[in-house]
Amino acid sequence: MKLVSFSLADGHIRPGSLLEEADLVVDLTAAGFPDALSVIAAGFASLDAAKAKAYPAYRLSEVDLHAPLPNPPRVFAIGLNYRDHAAESGMAIPAVPVVFFKLTTAIVGPGDPIVLPVNSTQPDYEAEMAFVIGRGGYRLSADEWRNHVYGYTIVNDVSARDVQFATSQWSMSKSFPTFCPLGPAIVTADEIAEPHSLAIGLSIDGIVYQSSNTRELIFQIPALIEYLSSITPLLPGDIVSTGTPSGVGLGRTPKRWLQPGETVAVTVEGLGVLTNPVVAE
Ligand code: ZN
Repeated sequence: MKLVSFSLADGHIRPGSLLEEADLVVDLTAAGFPDALSVIAAGFASLDAAKAKAYPAYRLSEVDLHAPLPNPPRVFAIGLNYRDHAAESGMAIPAVPVVFFKLTTAIVGPGDPIVLPVNSTQPDYEAEMAFVIGRGGYRLSADEWRNHVYGYTIVNDVSARDVQFATSQWSMSKSFPTFCPLGPAIVTADEIAEPHSLAIGLSIDGIVYQSSNTRELIFQIPALIEYLSSITPLLPGDIVSTGTPSGVGLGRTPKRWLQPGETVAVTVEGLGVLTNPVVAE
C-alpha cells in the first residue's frame, strides 16, 4: 500500500491509500482511521480491492497531497552514512551512527516550497531514503528489524551549512520551516523486498547532482534500529532518514547552494519522486 495524507476543499487532512494506476486516492477515514499516524500504529498495510471500491475515492487532480505523515513523533536522521559523502565532507567514516534530529515543524509535503531563510547563505539539499517505524520497542535486536518497519519514504534533508558548521550540533541547521520535504507516499514494507539495494538520486531543474544506491549505506536499517532503540524506545510513526550519498552542494567544486526559482527532485527506486520548488523567504 502507498499511504498518503490528502485534503479536499475543506482543508482537513486525512489518510489515504494511493492507487497510482487508477489515478485514485481512497479515503481511509472510511476504515476508521482519523490520520496517517493511526494507520501506522494499527499496522494497517493493505487495502483489499473490495473495500477500496466501497470507500470514497478521489481523482489525484481533485486532492492536495500533504506529507504522508505530517505529525511523526520524531524524525531521526543519520549523518555521514555513505562513505563517499563522508569523504566529500572532509570527515572520518563514523564507527558509531551519527544521529541528529529534524524538528517535525520542518516537515512539508510533495510540491510544497522549500523556503530559504534569510539567516543562511548556504542552503543545501540531501537525497535520503527513510524508513518508518510500525511496531515500536526498546532495546531491539538487529535481526528483528523487519518486525518493526512499517514502510519507506523519501526525505530531502535540507541543511543550512553555515548554521550547521557554526557549532558541533547539527539539528538546528536542518530544522528551519520547510527543511524536511517528505513523501510523496509511505510505501509499506511488503512492497519493498530489499531496501538496501535501491537506486537513489537527486536532480535540480533536470540536472543530476546525486546518484547512488542504498547498498552503499554504512549503517543499514538493522544496525540503526538496534542502535537507536538501545537508547530510546522507538515509537510507531518515528521516521529515520538514513543519510545522503555524495554530490551535495557542500561537496562540489565550486560549492553550490540552493537558489530561489530552482526545483529539486529526489528519486528513490520504488518510492516515487519527491519534488519541491525553492523560494526565498
Ligand atoms: Zn542528511
